[in-house]
Amino acid sequence: MHYVSTRADQGAASQAPQQFSDILLGGLAPDGGLYLPAEYPQVTGAELDAWRKLSYADLAYEILRKFATDIPEADLRKLTKKTYTAEVYRNTRKGQKAAEITPLRVLEQNGDKTLILQALSNGPTLAFKDMAMQLLGNLFEYALAKNGAELNIFGATSGDTGSAAEYAMRGKKGIRVFMLSPHKKMSAFQSAQMFSLQDPNIFNIAVEGVFDDCQDMVKAVSNDLPFKAAQKIGTVNSINWARVVAQVVYYFRGYLAATTENTQKVSFTVPSGNFGNICAGHIARMMGLPIDRLIAATNENDVLDEFFRTGVYRVRKSAETYHTSSPSMDISKASNFERFVYDLVGRDAARVRQLFHKVETEGGFDLSGKPGSDGDEFKRVSEYGFASGKSTHKDRLDTIRDVADDYDITIDTHTADGIKVARQYMAPGVPMIVLETALAAKFNETILDALGVDAERPAGFEDIESLPQKFVVMPADVAKMKSYIASNTGL
Ligand SMILES: *Cc1c(COP(=O)(O)O)cnc(C)c1O
Repeated sequence: MHYVSTRADQGAASQAPQQFSDILLGGLAPDGGLYLPAEYPQVTGAELDAWRKLSYADLAYEILRKFATDIPEADLRKLTKKTYTAEVYRNTRKGQKAAEITPLRVLEQNGDKTLILQALSNGPTLAFKDMAMQLLGNLFEYALAKNGAELNIFGATSGDTGSAAEYAMRGKKGIRVFMLSPHKKMSAFQSAQMFSLQDPNIFNIAVEGVFDDCQDMVKAVSNDLPFKAAQKIGTVNSINWARVVAQVVYYFRGYLAATTENTQKVSFTVPSGNFGNICAGHIARMMGLPIDRLIAATNENDVLDEFFRTGVYRVRKSAETYHTSSPSMDISKASNFERFVYDLVGRDAARVRQLFHKVETEGGFDLSGKPGSDGDEFKRVSEYGFASGKSTHKDRLDTIRDVADDYDITIDTHTADGIKVARQYMAPGVPMIVLETALAAKFNETILDALGVDAERPAGFEDIESLPQKFVVMPADVAKMKSYIASNTGL
């Protein structure tokens, strides 16, 4: 299995096809594109039949071996077994089995319309990013040990990504994590989750500023190529290919758990921000998984909903980006979207280059086919099953209340955006699976507003805010940051 960049110049020597291990630790391709398999591996009906009986870890192995062909199978099996355990994904609701890793719960069966919730939020940080990040931690440790190498992960977070990265990398040999967050801007629960980690390889840095200041510092350090090389700096952002491919697994799992035979179809609704989660659904569908529709649910930051309604992709300026009560979907552009556009334009890399150049220079492109637009590929979007919808703060509160009243469970704000939108797309005979991307306890402020009571906390999280915390406070000063990193890596 080889990987190509979405912007690759065919034949250019610097863009030679890569293997899975070559792109594992990286982000963007050198030409600024994103990596994708040269072709999607296909799944047969016989395989799907056989996979119905598998544990989550074994299913993850079967799917990953189609993509990571350069990792010896016995090693891959060990890595998936170690990652997907009931011990790691234990924050399961009452009545559900942790061993299922992503348990399904039927919310509603109304005639031949079925609404199902698939929990992706049972990992250590109570958000779906654990699903892929835990595997990444084990894959990174494995790859670094093979080469006797080390890696210093440097990133900025406003919440979910940073904590998922830290919980995945804690205690891993050869890896350190330097994570910036805006000082006193995260919820008490979120900072407690990160700052209570005492592992010597985890460095929490609270920056005196806002999230954008943190991101600017990451950019400044990443643009200093000699420093980056000397300090062995890497990232784990959402464009990382291994993260995307690890997410493909739970679409298979959801399908197999909701159906009894392969002639049946299901649809998925996915609370979306950077398009990483739903991109994995697209890949599962391209592999032959019988997915009818893939519905992107956005909040007020509706870049994706706008595209799937109109064919116009328009990134937002920071003044147009809203801070919402589903904050992990507050994006100005969708960094994985280019992967879908590559398929949509018939895998024409020159065209992808041209379109995303236009994003950089003019802030977007238009595939609606209208006079003056950049193309008419929007008419093919429905062939890929995609549709979308949008949810607002009021919708979120209403949906959290409705779901609590009707089904007696408390959902988080991101999942509420998903359920709100899913209800617009229910179709007879096709179960609708909504991906639950976080547990409500993480976003308790909004739960209190909606329900007037606190969200239930899983065991072990009751007193998290009173645990001892380890972090340093620093001004938004790049030189200070660099010397802090260097003094802790010893490189
Ligand atoms: C990151 C995140 C999302 C958005 O996922 P993308 O892959 O960026 O589309 C949605 N919900 C929660 C809770 C998240 O943490």
